[in-house]
Amino acid sequence: MGKHILDGVLCEVNNCVYWEKGNRCSANEILVVSQQGHKASSVEETDCQTFKRE
Ligand code: SF4
Repeated sequence: MGKHILDGVLCEVNNCVYWEKGNRCSANEILVVSQQGHKASSVEETDCQTFKRE
């Protein structure tokens, strides 16, 4: 059985255990947060909390 791929999510963080070739994500779901609980004002201020290092 192949890995579940999360539709509609592209990710370049290729040292994450959930990363798959083609910049796909194999997590069941992801949680994206604004850094330090503040309102994000730019893309750099957001993070994927589901990231798990390989
Ligand atoms: S869990 Fe987050 S960091 Fe990891 S591959 Fe998926 S979207 Fe990327």
